[in-house]
Parts: sequence; structure tokens; C-alpha cells
Amino acid sequence: MRLDGNGMGSGKGKGKGNTGANGAGNGNGHAQGNGNGSKPEPIFPLPLRVLITGGAGFIGSHLAEHLVARGAAVTAIDDLSTGSFANIAHLADRKDFRFVCESVTNEAVMDRLVSHCDIIYHLAAAVGVDLIIKNPVQTIETNVLGTEAVLRLARRYHTKVLIASTSEVYGKSDNHPYKEDDDRVLGPTTRSRWAYAESKALDEFLALAYHKEFRIPVVIARLFNTVGPRQTGAYGMVIPRLAQQAVEGRPLTVYEDGLQSRCFCDVRDVVPALIGISHCAAAEGEIFNVGSEQEISILDLARRILRISGSSSPIEFIPYERAYRSDFEDMRRRVPNIERIRGLIGWEPRISLDQTLEEVIAEFRARAESASSPGPVRAAIVR
Ligand code: UDP
Repeated sequence: MRLDGNGMGSGKGKGKGNTGANGAGNGNGHAQGNGNGSKPEPIFPLPLRVLITGGAGFIGSHLAEHLVARGAAVTAIDDLSTGSFANIAHLADRKDFRFVCESVTNEAVMDRLVSHCDIIYHLAAAVGVDLIIKNPVQTIETNVLGTEAVLRLARRYHTKVLIASTSEVYGKSDNHPYKEDDDRVLGPTTRSRWAYAESKALDEFLALAYHKEFRIPVVIARLFNTVGPRQTGAYGMVIPRLAQQAVEGRPLTVYEDGLQSRCFCDVRDVVPALIGISHCAAAEGEIFNVGSEQEISILDLARRILRISGSSSPIEFIPYERAYRSDFEDMRRRVPNIERIRGLIGWEPRISLDQTLEEVIAEFRARAESASSPGPVRAAIVR
């Protein structure tokens, strides 16, 4: 189904409309294929020119793939600091996909890209607890300066922006499940982990301020432990780390007692949520939790990975002081309340944790079996 015109709030002087997440989807913001191999239907107005910052990252690459498959023209900008060209290599030959290897803080490049897009998905950010602890300056600067640069340009061209935030902003509150308007509970500024939470909270403050003061159409998504194929364990994320360890027959590194818990949501569920709220006028100026409500302890996760992979690796318990640093603080639980997004666009996750784990394990197994690197790729670099 093709929706004519540009009904998006981004406008560039065009009318502001709302196709909603459900306009052409299946009622919950998911636009899946129709099962007969033909092109999946879009759930957004076409033509749509999309700019994805962090577009070569784990989530950005899935978002790009989803949008391109539904007829959008996508430009991905990424400085490849934590993203990888391999994530988007399969899109490189598409004429409706373009990759720009650059930082979002390069104003000249970003000005050109923003002036030619209808919507920005701002996903470029410091990722992973490991990186945050090791590179606190890079974490704060990437998050704050990058978002500031994007919002300033969104104001210049009155472009719609989705800001990807994180469940980290709730800190270590015990008040589960977390609702978007709940109080936040953070530790001292001497502990680097909280700098990440604060930098993303500042991104949210700034986005909301641009919305209130300049009427910029912004939407904020707080992502809770997004997982799935292509995620790297290099920056600390637990599922790719444990899956790779299981496949390679190494001990599974479960930190502390393993009784801390998380809710893992497949990236292929997260992507339709982002698209759904970014095309819903009623979502503007709002924050949405995006995550799964299914909670699992890290120890149970490790056991499940062992069962699914058939690995006989042992589980090794590692104290936080050894895994990170002595001043490290972890959250015992982190559970989202997703009533807001469910109520507005009918979104909820559908992919089970077992399915995600099977695919992630299969990916690591395939990688272990084939040492060969991905084929040659081409990048169109904007200068
Ligand atoms: N974790 C673990 N072993 C690892 C990596 C992480 O036990 O090799 C734990 C980590 O301490 C945390 C949970 O798994 O309690 C989720 O960690 P991740 O870094 O994936 O996400 P976040 O801490 O941001 O929720």
C-alpha cells in the first residue's frame, strides 16, 4: 500500500498529518511480510527520506533494513566507532540506501543530510557498559554533543526526530515496573555508569525543551535491553557474550550471583515500535518505554543458552570488581511498563527470547565455522 504525500510532522512547510502506526500495518505497528515472498507493506507515508544516525550500529542497521524493504530512501551516518560496515554490507548495493562514514558532530555534512530528509532516527550514542566504564569522556561527549547537533539541525529544517534513549535513565530505582514519568534514582557522580544515565537524560531534557520551546516534533524511545542478530559482545552486552562463549566451549561469565534480572527485547520487535511512534502525531513530545515484560535472571539466561546451544561449557561466577571495577554498580532488576506505547499504537513484543537466542547462537556458530570475512562492500561517502 502506498500512502501519497508527506503526512509527517517534519513537513518542511508541508501539512502535518498522522498516518499512525496502524495505517497500513497489521494493527500493532508491525509491518511483516505477507508470507508470499512479495514486498512487505509500509506503515509510513511514501515517499519517505530517512536519516539514521548510528545507522551502521546494531539497532540502526535493522531499522535501515526494515525501512528500505518497505520503500523508504535511507541514509545511514555512522563514524564506525562502535558500529560496523558489515552490519549494512547487504544494503550497500541498493540505490535507495546510502552510507555516510562521518560523525554526527560534523555540522557541514549533517546540515546537508538533514536538509534532505523527512525524519531523523537519532541512534548514534556510546553503547555498552564496558565502553562507558572505560571511556567516560567519549561517552558523555558522544551522547550530549551528538544529540545537541542533531536537535539544532532539526530546528533549522523543522524536521521530525526520534531520539533513542535508554532504560539506564531510571537508574537503580526499585519501583518496578518502570513507568515513563517515574522518579529516577541514580548513584554518585564518581561512578562512571551514572554518567551514561545522566548524559542520556540530558538528551531527553534537551529534546523535550526543543519540543516545548521551538515546537520541534520529537519523540523519545527508552529502550530496555535490545538484543538479536548482529549485536556484538565487544562492549559488554550479555547475550552475545554468553552465546559466543557457549559456541566456543568457553566458560559462561555470569557476573556476581547471576540473580540480577533483565527483560530482553528482540531488535526486530523494537524497530516497528520506533517506526510506529515516530509516525504518530499524538506521540510528539512524549517518552515511550520500548521493551519486553518477560523478566529473566542472568543465571537462568546462561542456563537457557547452554540448553539451546547444546554446549557443555561451565558457568563461571565473576564478581563485579573483576568484571568491571571496584566502583561498579549494577541494577538488580529492570522491568518496563509498556502501557503507554501499547495504548497509543497497540505495540507489544512478539518474538520469544528462545527464538532470539536460537538465532544469535546460530549466528555465532556460522561465524565460528566460517573464518571468511564478508564480501567486498562499497560506501558512498558524502564530502
Ligand atoms: N552480565 C554478565 N556477564 C557478562 C556480561 C553481562 O553476567 O558477560 C550481566 C551484567 O552485569 C548485567 C546483565 O548481565 O547485570 C546485563 O548486562 P548488559 O551489559 O547486557 O546490559 P545492562 O547492564 O545495560 O542491562
